[in-house]
Amino acid sequence: KPVAIITIGMAGAGKSTFVERLNAHLHSKEPPSPPYILNLDPAVTYVPYEPNIDIRDTVNYQEVMKQYNLGPNGGILTSLNLFTTKFDQVLNLVEQRADSVDYVILDTPGQIEIFTWSASGAIITDAIASTLPTVVAYVIDTPRTTAPATFMSNMLYACSILYKTKLPFILVFNKTDVQSHQFAVDWMADFEEFQAALATDKGSRDSEGEPTFMNSLMNSMCLVLDEFYKNLTAVGVSSVTGDGFDGFLAAVEASRKEYENEYIPELKRAQ
Ligand code: GDP
Repeated sequence: KPVAIITIGMAGAGKSTFVERLNAHLHSKEPPSPPYILNLDPAVTYVPYEPNIDIRDTVNYQEVMKQYNLGPNGGILTSLNLFTTKFDQVLNLVEQRADSVDYVILDTPGQIEIFTWSASGAIITDAIASTLPTVVAYVIDTPRTTAPATFMSNMLYACSILYKTKLPFILVFNKTDVQSHQFAVDWMADFEEFQAALATDKGSRDSEGEPTFMNSLMNSMCLVLDEFYKNLTAVGVSSVTGDGFDGFLAAVEASRKEYENEYIPELKRAQ
């Protein structure tokens, strides 16, 4: 059975470039393992790979905006809703290919909330996760997350998606050609390292030299996140050079086992 990879990421994190590189990487494997790709972003103008199923073939985002008198976000959400009503057909197509592919990749809308916090996003996620072993790949802009406060807000966002989907979760630190993700690995392995970074961060103290509210909040919050870090895997990749993609695939393989051991029993209990 193939494994489904749901790629999620803040705009600009490099999600499209990541999917493009993953596609190329799988094609160049020995033997090649071309993935089955679903593009779920109705508003994207250029996709740097050839999707097997493209939401843009079914709904015309510009027309939806006009017809329902919506702005860009409403247009994307409504297009996704319309597409979701036909998702059983999409699943059929995916299932027909289940014997011949190893990976099914879902590329989600550039505006992350539209997928992670909508009914359609939840329906699509649950539908795919009850059909195939599924893993979430959360793509992070590593060079832009080196400040402790940015890092923490990014991790909290990832945490909220993990607890919402309950699926195996891989943090993909992208753009390692520009910035190594070692600092993140260190902060996640040892909260005292993160607290040390916080203490020396500019803006960590007010004019009287006392720690700011944000600073003490983050100081305590990293203890909570410590528990969250134990539940996920982190890898570093460069979608430009292709560095780290074997490591990513190894993490996907480990996630498949986690899905079988943890998600499936949970699914059966819920039924
Ligand atoms: P998306 O909005 O998340 O789909 O992001 P894109 O894939 O469009 O990438 C945003 C920008 O980051 C583009 O300028 C990419 O060329 C750049 N980018 C993506 N991945 C990498 C990477 O691994 N290294 C570097 N240096 N730049 C990257």
